[in-house]
Amino acid sequence: MTTVALKDVTKVFPDGTVAVDNVSLDVADGEFMVLLGPSGCGKSTVLRMVAGLEDPSSGAIMLDGQLANQLPPRDRRIAMVFQDFALYPHMTVGENIGFPLRLSGIEPEPRAERVADVASALGIGDVLGRKPSQLSGGQRQRVAMGRAIVRRPGLFLMDEPLSNLDSGLRAELRAEISGLVRELGVSTVYVTHDQAEALTMADRVAIMRKGVLQDVGTPTQVYGKPATLYVAAFLGSPRMNLLEASVYVHLDRYVQLNLGEQSLYLKWDDIRARAVSHFHGERIVIGVRAEALTPVAPDTPGDVLQGRIRYLEHHGHESLAFVDIGATAVVVDEIGRSAAEQEEHGSRLRRFGHVINRMKGRSNGAA
Ligand code: ATP
Repeated sequence: MTTVALKDVTKVFPDGTVAVDNVSLDVADGEFMVLLGPSGCGKSTVLRMVAGLEDPSSGAIMLDGQLANQLPPRDRRIAMVFQDFALYPHMTVGENIGFPLRLSGIEPEPRAERVADVASALGIGDVLGRKPSQLSGGQRQRVAMGRAIVRRPGLFLMDEPLSNLDSGLRAELRAEISGLVRELGVSTVYVTHDQAEALTMADRVAIMRKGVLQDVGTPTQVYGKPATLYVAAFLGSPRMNLLEASVYVHLDRYVQLNLGEQSLYLKWDDIRARAVSHFHGERIVIGVRAEALTPVAPDTPGDVLQGRIRYLEHHGHESLAFVDIGATAVVVDEIGRSAAEQEEHGSRLRRFGHVINRMKGRSNGAA
């Protein structure tokens, strides 16, 4: 399958807009790469340059190790799927799916056979004779997928292919699309602004902001060890807590993290102490995921922060506590508890709601 490499790619539009700013990115053979970022960050422009629909202003776009800047779109072995599906309204489902084969001169019989195979793999074998207007949104998206895979491309480019669908169908189709693409082993670049889509579907996620690539890694890497503060604040729901702290190293025996009115003390054998020790005397930002903070009873000894619960938010499978630990509101996420435990825990939190609480802090790194 096709590999992609962008080397120092920049796109400046004639009106001076820098849509893509010096981006370098590799997509391996068979990899599912998701480009994630807010509206206007340049994701679609990257995709369009890979497709050959837009020329880079500078830099190189390599396909299978060959410079492809001048290669016409039709010679790139690429299939694109767009958010509006772009189906031909006057053609039936079968004709829509078979259209790329017709263009490449495949005879009607093998064409019909291939269309039937693809349609049945996508669960739309029974609607081949219908027109797009007679289909549901999910079926239309499957037809668009069918038309993309029928020619066995080396690379899929998908631009927000699920954004016009309701949330239930999106969740269903994202599993379906990533399953199908992996089964076919086709390299894929998938653009979305939806982080749930990115984190659940991707082999690796590339996060962009204002044309600049911020971070690239597996979903676990970008979620757990974001490369920039922007990525830390952008990924995850609830968002990562970002706590400002001053660092003081005490005679190489422990590290004090001064968070405003209170401090955390990390013993020297704690790997986190050594991770922040070279910031002695400086202010840093500590990123702590809500799930890394556990509420504990007021008299719990050790590595604890005190805070006042402002409010609780129940989400069915988890509860979030918004806690003041001085200037910063911290979100505590209770996951993995049984319903009974949650109920008990929730009432304990409520009981403590107007008194000072202590929270065990398990900070997960410095940013
Ligand atoms: P969205 O999720 O809203 O589609 P995106 O991340 O895909 O956004 P792009 O469509 O790549 O972003 O646009 C990146 C920037 O380039 C935006 O500021 C956009 O306004 C600008 N832009 C896109 N196409 C053009 C164009 N033809 N001329 C000038 N500016 C453009």
